[in-house]
Amino acid sequence: MSLAENTNISIEKIAKSRIDSIDFENLKFGTTFSDHMLVCHYKDGQWGDVQIKPYGPMSFEPSINVFHYGQAIFEGMKAYKDSNDDVWLFRPRENWKRFNKSAERMEMPQIDETRFVDGLKTLLNLDREWVKPGQGNALYLRPFMIGTHPGVVAGPSSEFMFCIICSPARTYYSGKVKVQIAEHYSRAANGGVGYTKCSGNYAGQFYPTKLAQQKGYQQVIWTDDATHTKLEEAGTMNVFFRIGDTLITAPTSERILDGVTRKSLLDIAKSKGIDIDVRTIVVQELLDAHAKGELKEIFGAGTAVTIGQIEGFAYQEKFYSLPEIADENSFAVQLKNSLQGIQQKTVEDIFGWTEKVEKK
Ligand SMILES: *Cc1c(COP(=O)(O)O)cnc(C)c1O
Repeated sequence: MSLAENTNISIEKIAKSRIDSIDFENLKFGTTFSDHMLVCHYKDGQWGDVQIKPYGPMSFEPSINVFHYGQAIFEGMKAYKDSNDDVWLFRPRENWKRFNKSAERMEMPQIDETRFVDGLKTLLNLDREWVKPGQGNALYLRPFMIGTHPGVVAGPSSEFMFCIICSPARTYYSGKVKVQIAEHYSRAANGGVGYTKCSGNYAGQFYPTKLAQQKGYQQVIWTDDATHTKLEEAGTMNVFFRIGDTLITAPTSERILDGVTRKSLLDIAKSKGIDIDVRTIVVQELLDAHAKGELKEIFGAGTAVTIGQIEGFAYQEKFYSLPEIADENSFAVQLKNSLQGIQQKTVEDIFGWTEKVEKK
């Protein structure tokens, strides 16, 4: 993608920062946005210059592709601040690569590393005050792309907008959640788009998740669409099961998203000598392990919460509780502490996963 060398980044700064009006102690996830955003338009077969400008409303014709046919993809990542006031990204090029995988499947243009990663760093350099130091604090980053060509023609858009917005976030320990194993609804299917972060994947989950919530379960554990026996993801997270002292997670596939958190946790677990098994795991195995008292932990893994512990699951109208486990014996807690330590720069990054946002 050689266009990259021609990228100009223009910066229009906000007249007065809004940062003093934000209560950073009481943030509701994803509802507050930083001063600036990045915008880049694709037209006539190429990406234009990267613009960084004040965050604010945009205007589009009602007929543009995304409103009707849903050409829309996104990424979710975070920036962290260490005790030296330096800002860091965690494996940002993994998100860039996955964004392009999503783009390919949704018949959208590829974007070069310069516009995505360097553009993001330029934006973060400008909004670095919005990244707060300390445990659990981060700036959540939301790159996305939509089809912007007007006309209700059922075909791919010829014009697109790439945009990045930033939202200060604080992860509190919100307790363990109860989940329901999907017996009817599906998140993804073979040949489908489950491995992409396309917006429609999420809209399609809202209704079955609401039904589960009405029964008192916060999330759904998605199973394969054909047999509803294979355990695949938990809500919008990858899912891990600990049976005995082995940590099991499904291999990524067309139906399972290749999470950056998932693969980082697998590497950390390996480095700690935890026995890992990446293979298909079915509901019956979970029920058998539970009956034998060998099912010790289940947790979801994703950027927003890092690790979300699960206290039990419902299947065929029956609820199965997991045993209480002390933090020092929990794989979820150990892995979460290591990963968050690397991200927040309090634990040595032996993997070389963190990238500094240089001050300019
Ligand atoms: C984003 C996402 C994940 C987690 O990916 P991370 O890169 O770890 O944030 C897992 N499953 C689904 C369906 C997702 O959309």
